[in-house]
Amino acid sequence: MTAPPLLPGATIGILGVGQLGRMLGMAARQLGYRVGVYGPEPDAPAAAVADFEVVAPYDDRAAISAFAARVDVVTFEFENVPSSAAEAAGQLAPVRPAGHVLHTTQQRIREKLSLRAAGLPVADFAPVDDAQALARGVAAVGLPCVLKTAGFGYDGKGQRRLDTDDPRSLALAFEGLQGGPGVLEAWVPFERELSVVAARGLDGAFAAYPVFENRHRNHILDVTLSPAEIPGSTEAAAVALARRVLESLDVVGLLCVELFQLPDGRLLINELAPRTHNSGHLTLDASVTSQFEQQVRAVCGLPLGATDTRPAAMVNLLGDLWTAGEPDWAAALAMPGVHLHLYGKREARPGRKMGHLTVVGETATGAAQTALEARARLTRR
Ligand code: AMP
Repeated sequence: MTAPPLLPGATIGILGVGQLGRMLGMAARQLGYRVGVYGPEPDAPAAAVADFEVVAPYDDRAAISAFAARVDVVTFEFENVPSSAAEAAGQLAPVRPAGHVLHTTQQRIREKLSLRAAGLPVADFAPVDDAQALARGVAAVGLPCVLKTAGFGYDGKGQRRLDTDDPRSLALAFEGLQGGPGVLEAWVPFERELSVVAARGLDGAFAAYPVFENRHRNHILDVTLSPAEIPGSTEAAAVALARRVLESLDVVGLLCVELFQLPDGRLLINELAPRTHNSGHLTLDASVTSQFEQQVRAVCGLPLGATDTRPAAMVNLLGDLWTAGEPDWAAALAMPGVHLHLYGKREARPGRKMGHLTVVGETATGAAQTALEARARLTRR
């Protein structure tokens, strides 16, 4: 039997205090929920929108248990929470998505093995736990390839591309893992990077947004366009893959599937994020239900919202924009249709995600042009 829904007035506990937690917290409060957030840094983006904040490390089981005892459901904005913490929370409140989803998706080798076991397509890969395994992996996977840390990686951190198997390059790459396990992946000559943000309810209901197209700069998401410029058959295949992912992991909540589209149209799964995703930020302004509201609905057992989305684009605002002082917000906001979202981070560092701009337009490409122009105006003096 499905558990009864948690109705507005209940308290949602969010593990993680970054921008995703902030936007999730705002959606939850709009729906009338109370919000508690848990994370190691004080004054973090999500704390500003929460009813209460607990500042403690993610591996402090006693603090996690005390937090879980104060809320009606626990969810995440950040997947690198030790699964023992999710387990501790699970003794006191439902954890959605469940701890096993975190456990699988927070480590690239486990994630790829689970996808492969479910018959889902991933690039060739080899686990690397010592220097010999790296040499064997290069022989098996072929060149070029990319060595990534297996855990706690995002935005290309801890990644190194290999174009040769000479022992000196391999030794250097191996050092980059800093003692932790790694995974070697075949380099994918993709035509496009796509993502599917999808939700699954307590009753198994499934809802996906249109497929997004993502452009990266220095391994960090730079621009997202919706809808992706892909044939209907590819769109349907991407959503069908996402559905199989959410069903095979028995996700209750929201999950993003990052995909590579090959030149022949085939799709490979790059990675999974069991939470809202940067590529889904445009849903705040372009969709009937935002990805944040959708996560709230899914984890509270409410009906999933409609995912209809108008053509739109999002551009990220990284800390680099602050190099010559505060960006010229008025110049960007003077352009009709530009939405500004800032995360309330005090310190702008290069590569740090500080906010984003969204534009809803007649076409995704037109919206992207306007958003890029708005971003250029921030630093044009
Ligand atoms: P990740 O942290 O795995 O999402 O990687 C960040 C970005 O690096 C991806 O969005 C791609 O642009 C690029 N990348 C990662 N893995 C590969 C690969 N196997 N082949 C080609 N590009 C990759």
